[in-house]
Amino acid sequence: MGNTVKTDVLIIGTGFGGLCMSAKLKASGKEDFIILEKADGVGGTWRENRYPGAECDIASVLYSYSFYPNPTWDFKWAKQKQILDYLNRFTDDMNIRKHIRFGQHVSGAQFDEGAGRWSVKTADGTIYSARFLVTALGQLHHAKTPGFKGQDIFKGPQFHTAEWPEGVDLRGKNVAIIGNAASAIQTIPEIAKIAKTLTIYQRSANWIIPKRDRPYSRFEKGVAKLVPGLSKLYRGFWFGVGEFLMYPMIRGRKRRSWLGRAMCRSEMKKFIKDPDMQAALTPDYPIGAKRILLSETYYPALARENVGLVNVPIKALTSEGIHAGDDIKRPHDVIVYATGFYTHPFYKDLPILGENGVELGEHWDGGAFAYHGVMTSGFPNLFMLYGPNTNSGHTSIVFKLENQVNYILQLLERAEGKTIRVNKDAEIRYNEEMQTRLADTSWAKIDKSWYKTGEKIDLNWPGSGIEYKRRMKTPINQDFHTSPE
Ligand code: NAP
Repeated sequence: MGNTVKTDVLIIGTGFGGLCMSAKLKASGKEDFIILEKADGVGGTWRENRYPGAECDIASVLYSYSFYPNPTWDFKWAKQKQILDYLNRFTDDMNIRKHIRFGQHVSGAQFDEGAGRWSVKTADGTIYSARFLVTALGQLHHAKTPGFKGQDIFKGPQFHTAEWPEGVDLRGKNVAIIGNAASAIQTIPEIAKIAKTLTIYQRSANWIIPKRDRPYSRFEKGVAKLVPGLSKLYRGFWFGVGEFLMYPMIRGRKRRSWLGRAMCRSEMKKFIKDPDMQAALTPDYPIGAKRILLSETYYPALARENVGLVNVPIKALTSEGIHAGDDIKRPHDVIVYATGFYTHPFYKDLPILGENGVELGEHWDGGAFAYHGVMTSGFPNLFMLYGPNTNSGHTSIVFKLENQVNYILQLLERAEGKTIRVNKDAEIRYNEEMQTRLADTSWAKIDKSWYKTGEKIDLNWPGSGIEYKRRMKTPINQDFHTSPE
């Protein structure tokens, strides 16, 4: 029987969301909180995704807390290690580390209606009892490796990009990579430099825009340090690029979509001269329907002599390699899965029981939903960060998280000494609005993506960043109720 630890606010996860929540709680004078972290370090996705080439596809200046800028980003698009360093520094500077319980893998949570408290259990049997529970788990948390026939007979190492083994050496190896989306296009150029051969197994092509990355000069970093106002302006510029160039593509706006496609095609044609290869690399779906990718190193990597593209489905794995739909059995030493993450159910392997013992996964059968992405009916005092319908394809999740944290803090204020619930009718109205608007986006123009559960787009927010900020400023009082009144 484990021991019980009591706290006011319990946060799960030490990624950008959990750390932001903690810093803001402290800033508002609240010290009675604990953060549970399954691993032995902070950073969430930036601790886990260590594959070669891992970096951010949102401009660094926008991929940081507005209240904790980083004038010393080395590149326009920050590398994984520097983002992780930034989060570690933030944890220390905000004096958050003492609130973190590392190595605490949450196995389930249950709301006790009588006590008005959440009881959260971890794998080692410890029970945490908290009035408020904040889930800061991210949306891309569980690596997904497709179960190909013959997977267990392949003789060489095989692993997922998000589970990159320490010390693996791909030098001089014949490497296969399955998948060619956001994670793959970052690691492919790095693997191509050292592998003997690299074979990319593509299921569908992607729209890829050049990001024009480069290191920041010492002068630029110095200016950013000395004149924070300039950095702020620069941040505003990148926010604007998302809002006025990328967001219209997601909305399917004709001129911006045409421009996006033209940028992608012209970049591809610079490096790929073979018309058949160009055709294979051109998506058959509208730009914006899946994440628009940013890279100027992917096509040059594809053009290398040691890199090949297989554009037919995989039939099976063999002991020596991969047997594809063209009936060729290609030998490989190593197989890398860049095959994405489980996004359904929304909180995989984490049973959360709300009022009347209803499990969150059942409540969300058919696709997740939540009022403003932060609360769902029947689950009092439970707040979510990066919850349903909060993801965007055009702006920084860090910006979104800050808005969510500010919103939740106001609800915590209101719930002082009470239990707070979102009204079901408000949640239904909000969810209907989301789905009506999402039906009019490029995301709806494709059958399957990680954004969707069946037909329902349950992960993404349909609006602009500007609208998001406006609507997350202040909770609408009558959409919530507290008990006792
Ligand atoms: P993903 O977008 O889900 O892509 C998975 C890839 O694997 C796709 O190419 C997919 O093909 C392929 N695939 C999946 N199952 C397959 C199968 N059975 N056979 C063959 N191919 C298969 O995953 P991801 O690249 O890891 O990216 C996920 C998200 O993470 C991104 O959208 C982005 O939001 C985020 N991300 C961000 C960054 C960053 O820079 N901040 C970096 C990496 C990832 P289909 O396209 O045909 O499904």
